[in-house]
Amino acid sequence: MSFERKKILVLGAGYAGLQTVSKLQKLLSHQDADITLINKNEYHYEATWLHETAAGTIDWEEGVYPINKVVDAQKVVFVPAEVTAIHKDEQRVETTQGTFEYDILVVALGFESETFGIEGMEEHAHSIVNPETATAARKEIERNFANYRQSNDPKDISILVGGAGFTGIEYLGELVESVPELCEKHGIDYNKVNITCVEAAPKMLPMFPENLVEYAVEFLKDRGVKFMVDTPIVAANEDGFVVEVNDEKQQIEANSVIWTAGVRGSSLMEESFDGVKRGRIVVGPDLRIEGYDNIYAIGDVAAVMNGETERPWPTTAQIAMQLGEHTAKNIELSLKGERLEEFSYNDRGTVCSLGSKDGIGLVMGREIKGKKAAFMKRVIDSRAIFKIGGPLLAYSKGKMF
Ligand code: NAD
Repeated sequence: MSFERKKILVLGAGYAGLQTVSKLQKLLSHQDADITLINKNEYHYEATWLHETAAGTIDWEEGVYPINKVVDAQKVVFVPAEVTAIHKDEQRVETTQGTFEYDILVVALGFESETFGIEGMEEHAHSIVNPETATAARKEIERNFANYRQSNDPKDISILVGGAGFTGIEYLGELVESVPELCEKHGIDYNKVNITCVEAAPKMLPMFPENLVEYAVEFLKDRGVKFMVDTPIVAANEDGFVVEVNDEKQQIEANSVIWTAGVRGSSLMEESFDGVKRGRIVVGPDLRIEGYDNIYAIGDVAAVMNGETERPWPTTAQIAMQLGEHTAKNIELSLKGERLEEFSYNDRGTVCSLGSKDGIGLVMGREIKGKKAAFMKRVIDSRAIFKIGGPLLAYSKGKMF
């Protein structure tokens, strides 16, 4: 291939950005383009494993790997730096390590916690959005349980989880595995522990059929989790959550408070582009931003429309990786001066884990639960590493061996 050498800049090394780079380095030779990847940390973290770190069933190091293990240094320059501004009209990006110019930009800056402006949430609750916040949540629980022997305060062994979405349910699944061990360590009777999940909607996990949701809820209830559904959290404070029940405010007490009820795209999106909602910008079918033929937005900062429902696809690791792959192919086509292709999502299904040995899922249109779902989840987790980093990385970091 021979064409005018362009500067390709990829922002973010999450599932979308790192998959873009991994594919680009396969498609292009080092003469074809200057590829630069910028990411805040020197490592990539498995965002879909963060609930495990936050519960303490894995250490944070297990869910990360150095970006240099994926990047081919002959073809890609990796710069560990934080992006501070995108000047789309000047084709320039500011970072903590200086300014970078580009011909083609891929924005894949990932997600942050969204508290919807709920009073006190940012100050009083932990979120699970990166290895640091997940570790802080785990440490909070460990500290409070350790404290209980002296304090005898039931709040020290009470955990509140806000939101019963995917993250909330998967987190609870890990907690019912790790908290009994924590109790054993500190000589605490697990029956005294209070794990409560508060969910605003009347139904949980609406993407799954009722029988699977029931299976997951019963699994967690059998292990001591209490659910308060149809109960919006309206505030958080140093005593726990304030919820609304029958138009009345009620305080629920706990010293470990974790908010799993919302994510949004990077707030840098609002600062850099027009028409951004909750950090997400609508992209065209070829994944470029309207009016900017040289800018792709993918992953959690993009709203990629599902033509059938006319709603954006949910932001998952699966779609992020497919978007990354498609972006790399479209960049190659654009370098060749060929017509770009429209993205079409190949939905292989989803699995919601319930700890390491159980789960529920819809895979290739089939319902699965129990050990089968847990096995499938390990396959999905390992496949993501394989797709981005190849067999050696999958062997060392995956969950199949
Ligand atoms: P979510 O938005 O899917 O779920 C948040 C939950 O919190 C909802 O049930 C919502 O009703 C509830 N909620 C919101 N405000 C509330 C309030 N004030 N009080 C009480 N409850 C409240 O968020 P998520 O679970 O973090 O998932 C984010 C995205 O990531 C989704 O697209 C999801 O599909 C994806 N995800 C996928 C997996 C997987 O495939 N295994 C795992 C985690 C996340």
